[in-house]
Amino acid sequence: MPFKALGLHPLLLKAIQETGYTEPTPIQAAAIPEIILGHDVIGIAQTGTGKTAAFTLPLLHRLHSNAPARARMTRTLVLAPTRELVVQIEENVHAYAKHVPIHITKVYGGVSERPQIQALRGGAEMVIATPGRLLDLMGQRCADFTGLEHLVLDEADRMLDMGFLPAIRRIVQALPKKRQTLLFSATLSKEIESLTHEFQHSPKVVQIGRRSNPAETVTQLVYEVPRHLKTQLLCHLLNDPAMNMVLVFTRTKHGADRVARRLDALGIKTGTLHANRSQNQRLRALEDFRSGASRVLIATDIAARGIDVDGISHVVNLDFPPQVEDYVHRIGRTGRANSIGDAISFICEDDYGSLRSLERFIGRGIVRKRAEGFDYNAPAPKLSPEDEERRRSPRGGGGGGRSGGQGGGRGADPRRGSSFGGGARTGGRGR
Ligand code: AMP
Repeated sequence: MPFKALGLHPLLLKAIQETGYTEPTPIQAAAIPEIILGHDVIGIAQTGTGKTAAFTLPLLHRLHSNAPARARMTRTLVLAPTRELVVQIEENVHAYAKHVPIHITKVYGGVSERPQIQALRGGAEMVIATPGRLLDLMGQRCADFTGLEHLVLDEADRMLDMGFLPAIRRIVQALPKKRQTLLFSATLSKEIESLTHEFQHSPKVVQIGRRSNPAETVTQLVYEVPRHLKTQLLCHLLNDPAMNMVLVFTRTKHGADRVARRLDALGIKTGTLHANRSQNQRLRALEDFRSGASRVLIATDIAARGIDVDGISHVVNLDFPPQVEDYVHRIGRTGRANSIGDAISFICEDDYGSLRSLERFIGRGIVRKRAEGFDYNAPAPKLSPEDEERRRSPRGGGGGGRSGGQGGGRGADPRRGSSFGGGARTGGRGR
């Protein structure tokens, strides 16, 4: 089906063509006509399947086709959980909106407020924001949403979880009741779905593929490895030149830094992306990764939300995620837009329950692999003085990286364990 058949404005079609998209992805083909018609929509599709264009294109169409009630007012608000995601959505929207005169702005923390205040006061038609900074600026009476027509919650499962819910409720209270509301997400649990009634009216549910099914273009593998040899195994696997653009997930910020130091010491250019890094450092790390200046990027879950980098060859779960949703999001960073990718997970003694639950969830076993030429009986490597010091300190970050920190320690919270919990079935070998 060509994009033309979806009813989008010719100026948007021109931009789409220039972007190089030849036909809509399934989520775009299903969601765009519903959104153009003005329905509330819940869009569920795997990460990397073109969700961003699925909601931004029809909203740009509506903004451009319907005259505003008055000049210079905010008509569309897109909320996303992280700054990186806000930046990426805005980059996409700019490309799609290049032939239509729509003023778009982004609002997120960690950078100066002033230009954001000016843009809000100037009545930017589309505002793409993280909830925290937006609430700050709303508190300073910088935002006027009385003319708002559309609200989008991207990564809705995260937005309605993870402590964001009170902030979202406060923002939504300040919006007109009569509006179009879109929820987009790779995953949407039943509990969260029940909350959507608060924000939407008779939404159309657009679902592509099975809920939370990891992208089918990704080959998934598991390496069983003693905890103390995980970093060594990563270094060993990186001898393979096919691993040319590798995104590694660790549970904690300190874990990310520790592994980065090891790889750097081996001459492997490595960046890190986590909450202890400034906004500029994070953007720089992403840019270096995207351009190939660094071969490996090490990230924690929250910082990695919304990473949109084409061509990631491998995702490595150095620390296996206790939540199935995190696994899906992580491995969705490779195999994007139907390219091929590998997702490798390291499994230690404590991870078998989580692995079994994941396999139950995706309905098949994940292939186990052993690394050729790797010494599984090697002694624990000697820690650098810095890491030794950190390991000794009570807030440590050593060992398996289970200690506190953003993106870390969640596995220890029994309330979050509902999607895991170790089943009786052992993992089969699905492929
Ligand atoms: P998203 O799921 O929005 O993060 O998009 C994943 C990737 O797919 C991004 O790099 C988009 O630029 C790309 N993409 C989105 N729509 C299309 C399309 N119709 N054809 C080809 N690539 C697309």
